[in-house]
Amino acid sequence: MKSLAKMSPSIRRLLPIFDGIPHYMKTRINRLWKKWKEGAHEVMEKYSESMTNRKKLNVLVFIGFLANEQKLKLAKKSDHGGPLGELLQWSDLLATLSIIGHHLEVSTDKSSLKSIVWKYMSRGPCQFLNGSRQQLDIIFTDIMGLNILRQHHRQFLMNNRCRIRLLDSFGTHAEFATKSYFLQNKRKLSGPYSQRNPWGGHGLDLRQHWTFYPHSDDNTFLGFIVDTEGVEKENQKKKTSIPSALIYGKEKYMWMNAEKPIRMLKKHVKVHATVADLEVDGMSNITSLFENVQNHGFLNSREISELLDETTIFFGLGFPLEGPAPLEAMAHGAVFINAKFEEPKSRKNYKFLSEKPTLREWTSQNPYMEKIGEPHVITVDVNNETELEDAIKRAIQLKPKPFVPFEFSPSGMLLRVALLLEKQELCEKVSISKRWPPVTEMKIFKTEKANDSCEMTCHSLNLICEPSFFPIVNSSPLLKRELSCSSVSSDSSPFAPFNCTVQLSASLFSCASRPPSSSGIVRLCPCRDYIPEQHAICKKCL
Ligand code: UDP
Repeated sequence: MKSLAKMSPSIRRLLPIFDGIPHYMKTRINRLWKKWKEGAHEVMEKYSESMTNRKKLNVLVFIGFLANEQKLKLAKKSDHGGPLGELLQWSDLLATLSIIGHHLEVSTDKSSLKSIVWKYMSRGPCQFLNGSRQQLDIIFTDIMGLNILRQHHRQFLMNNRCRIRLLDSFGTHAEFATKSYFLQNKRKLSGPYSQRNPWGGHGLDLRQHWTFYPHSDDNTFLGFIVDTEGVEKENQKKKTSIPSALIYGKEKYMWMNAEKPIRMLKKHVKVHATVADLEVDGMSNITSLFENVQNHGFLNSREISELLDETTIFFGLGFPLEGPAPLEAMAHGAVFINAKFEEPKSRKNYKFLSEKPTLREWTSQNPYMEKIGEPHVITVDVNNETELEDAIKRAIQLKPKPFVPFEFSPSGMLLRVALLLEKQELCEKVSISKRWPPVTEMKIFKTEKANDSCEMTCHSLNLICEPSFFPIVNSSPLLKRELSCSSVSSDSSPFAPFNCTVQLSASLFSCASRPPSSSGIVRLCPCRDYIPEQHAICKKCL
């Protein structure tokens, strides 16, 4: 007697929660609602079979970092700068969940969380009221929220562990997911800045970590939508005759050491900025940097969208890493100049990343955009004068059409989240024939070089690594056959299965881990295909 989730693109369903969320989130949801409605229509037209016949779920959304508002003041800061990526993603998640028809319980503070927890705890598992399921099916929260649940609602958390979906912007690798493995290996896994793992160690399945970009095949891609309100899809944007650049960096500390590239930009284009804290004292050393720069201060979404409409180049200085703004610029037909890192940045050599639970290596400010490439993106060492000058001249000529990858459009996000919530099963063991993605989609490959991850191997074949297939690949007969082993041993290692060794700890299965070059390790990798511009979903996953 399960009830079905019905698509409901009416903003009225969200109005009751508007009182409890920051102004920035309300404004974003309202502003983009027209786009969401169009997306809902589109997804029903193209993918109606996948979107109908889904179970209606009870979803708790607990925005943990707002529950610490008194201390962090993030909602307050959102009206004049501060990190907006998280708020933007939470806004889009709420819109998505509501449109795809699930029942929502939203909390941004400890006291409302408590009443929701009590409501569901006292009901016990799986009771039915008026025909609808009265059990929590999914809990979206963030790392701060998880810590609050752990401190105040331990039993509730224990009962619902597998239902947690953790918003984890940069993602988490296997080495950092469990406390014990990290502690035993922390030296190897760290650099000079820190040997701590404050954001990891939750012991969740890596697929419970939902990320901002499709960073790592081990985690699940949640994403967000790109604001295209007011952008004409087909037409090339109107541009003033004078080419211009908008500098990516809304706080002045992001401009540190940028004299050389900014000077070069000024030589070729009119330079704009949206630095929010320029008027504050203590900036004498960077004053000259802002000469002949038109600083608009912090702009609201409509204003930033208008400015991007007139912008030829959106210029990255190397920080912030992987924010949403370059995708917005591309959606407005600007060329993103993406700062290349000659030596890739990671937790082992870059302070900002030193406590992030990932060994990912950033080859540029935005590796996702790097892969998109020209005409939308030029990735260049912004400190190399000749290369930068060439890039600026080329960017002025390119004039790309506005572009949004499907996975960052409203219909793409609605489809992805609807399918993931319906099909990704992390609480119960599912028989092989009922698994999702279907096991028939598995393609097994060996790594070619000792230093390769399974991700690298699958990506080189235009596939992605599918972590849910690892338990199937982890089989002695398969290793014997694929790698000609006469006997097979076992090990707890993020590289297993490899050579003639099976994996002992399921929590260490890893798409991303790269064995040392000298190890001679050959990994066995489960890959699968994906819908173009929609990494999370395989072609037969619909
Ligand atoms: N943004 C804005 N006003 C500004 C500058 C930026 O509203 O003056 C928006 C931008 O359009 C994007 C968001 O801030 O939607 C976050 O941008 P960023 O990529 O800098 O990411 P963050 O570091 O805040 O996560």
